[in-house]
Amino acid sequence: MNFTEFGLDPALMESIESTGYEVATPIQEQVIPIILQGRDIIACAQTGTGKTAAFLLPIINRLLQHSNDGQVNCIVLVPTRELAIQIAQNLEGLSYFTSISSIAVYGGNDGMNFATEKNALSKGVDFVICTPGRLIAHLNMGYVKLTGLQFLVLDEADRMLDMGFHDDLMKIISHLPAKRQNLMFSATMAEKIRSLARKILHNPAEVNI
Ligand code: AMP
Repeated sequence: MNFTEFGLDPALMESIESTGYEVATPIQEQVIPIILQGRDIIACAQTGTGKTAAFLLPIINRLLQHSNDGQVNCIVLVPTRELAIQIAQNLEGLSYFTSISSIAVYGGNDGMNFATEKNALSKGVDFVICTPGRLIAHLNMGYVKLTGLQFLVLDEADRMLDMGFHDDLMKIISHLPAKRQNLMFSATMAEKIRSLARKILHNPAEVNI
């Protein structure tokens, strides 16, 4: 399936073309229309399948139609800073010709300056791609405004649970508006993942690749 068939925004299409993508991968073919419809999703997919663009593209498209100015519109929670950086780079390419803004927020010595993160989080930015602990640090300081949030993505949810982030995830979710679209990606569908999905997702579509 060619990307032209999804009916995406022209500036987003231009960004996709400049990234060099032509044909959607199987997970993109399945997931993109569901997210465009506004449904929650739980998807079982490995790294390398194109899962990142599968959630970034439809979210970008919907934010180009309606973004809350001065707010954080989407949080992407990931287990590691390496994954945060990778997704942020992918997003930069896929949103290049659009007005979408983003920031990667992660802990560690070579992490971005806390003040720079604070500034972006309080002024508002479309996408925040972050590790749970670092976001909680900002929440505890009262630096993040999440009242306008529209999308929550949990990427590599199984790894986040394995790394002991369950309570951090639930704490972050307690700060989010109830009306939002939730997307969860995991390499496995163990019972602990299904249990987390039941707590977070509303009537999700299920996709297995
Ligand atoms: P991911 O599974 O999201 O980590 O993606 C794996 C790699 O595939 C990344 O380098 C992406 O840039 C690339 N990729 C994702 N979707 C496509 C596509 N439709 N066509 C070509 N490459 C893609």
